[in-house]
Amino acid sequence: MTNEKLAAMAAIEEKTDLITRTADFIWEYAELSLQEERSATLYCEILKNEGFTVERGICNIPTAFSASFGAGRPVIGILAEYDALSGLSQKGGSLKREEIVPGGCGHGCGHNLLGAGAMAAALGVKAYLEKTKHPGTVVLYGCPGEEGGAAKAFMARDQLWLGLDAALTWHPEDRNEVATGSSNSCIQVQYHFTGVASHAAGSPERGRSALDAVELMNIGVQFLREHMSDKARVHYAITDAGGRSPNVVQPRATVLYMVRSNHVCEAVELQKRVDRIAQGAALMTDTTFERKFIDGLADTVTNHTLEKLLHENFAELGVPVHTEEELDFADGLSGTYEGADSLPGIGCDYDSEYAASVKTLRSEKGRAMNDFLLPLYQGEAFKPGSTDVGDVSWECPTAQIHVASWPNGCPGHSWQNVSCDRTSIGHKAAIHAGKVLCAAAIDLMNRPATLEAARAEFLERTAQGYSCPIPEDAVPTVAD
Ligand SMILES: [Zn+2]
Ligand SMILES: [Zn+2]
Repeated sequence: MTNEKLAAMAAIEEKTDLITRTADFIWEYAELSLQEERSATLYCEILKNEGFTVERGICNIPTAFSASFGAGRPVIGILAEYDALSGLSQKGGSLKREEIVPGGCGHGCGHNLLGAGAMAAALGVKAYLEKTKHPGTVVLYGCPGEEGGAAKAFMARDQLWLGLDAALTWHPEDRNEVATGSSNSCIQVQYHFTGVASHAAGSPERGRSALDAVELMNIGVQFLREHMSDKARVHYAITDAGGRSPNVVQPRATVLYMVRSNHVCEAVELQKRVDRIAQGAALMTDTTFERKFIDGLADTVTNHTLEKLLHENFAELGVPVHTEEELDFADGLSGTYEGADSLPGIGCDYDSEYAASVKTLRSEKGRAMNDFLLPLYQGEAFKPGSTDVGDVSWECPTAQIHVASWPNGCPGHSWQNVSCDRTSIGHKAAIHAGKVLCAAAIDLMNRPATLEAARAEFLERTAQGYSCPIPEDAVPTVAD
């Protein structure tokens, strides 16, 4: 590692207190999607103090921001998230379920660490640019509403990411790895039907049931399912059944639909078919409906060039090192859920030799924390979940890493994650993620050939063009 890079790593270490305090504040705020007022304010204040040019409310999203430092190209974007989840209030560092606020919110996806680690990377690159006077710009993007709202996709609709030479990010996980492969595109639309209330026995002829419309719509979609591609999925939730009295014809009812596909262009088409089924249901029941677009996001475009670069730097920096006390805590926590003996790494699902090597790595350690870096895997890989990092990856070369923040097999969106996110295990993961992303960003500023290769790969993989799932007039929102 060059002296300049080592100096940037040292600059991140010098800011350890600031980074971990920020992670803890965001953990305490635990604000839901698109309501991250205090979290965004905290980041903007810190980044201003650190000498970044900060713009709050970018792309007309009040809790989004950008913080840039440097001048000229290349422009490297680092993506931060900071939204929490409802129903996951939980005491930090605890081995049992202990709510702080009954029914309150918590960082079950570790976005308090995600944002702080992304900020750590930006601080490191800033230190490098300041010291070397190297041309180049680092921009930390505050991306709200990852759990609902898909702000990055709205930003993609506004073509924000087209200006970047590369985007890097990370996500807390139970393992150290470079992420690869694709994910599902996902579009959410809410249908609110309106009918006419009446006495269900006394004057049924005067009633028009909105609940019937929702039921017929669901039946219509059930028949649609046979005629869509294998990886496509359509989910729904009745969010308002129109009342609790069977003897009143329900004058209103609401159903929220979620359409998924491995290809965003297919999801957009499938969503239009669901719209037509809603029209059919309204016709059949003599009701009307209002359609409210909630959010949409694209599948992820992988970039092997950037993934290799991230793995190179991850291998050079190693993995977070844990104390005996931390390892004991993780062992204890791993006893509270099923699946603690699962094999980490997406490659294990696709390649038996890869799985065998990971099994050896795991059993060598024998502890719940995965204190090793997974070998680079770049084979076929697909995760049925969705992330709005996907939309970024359609507009510029994008790659991400995972850093062990939770014990092996720890379930997503769980109280165990919330507990761990407020411990030194979580802090170490954020700092380490910051270092790996920073080191890779510095390489990109010094290796134009790598940047060019990443761009060429990106152009080839996105040749079909990006079908943005966000309509022109949509504004970020969450379902009622
Ligand atoms: Zn999540
Ligand atoms: Zn997440």
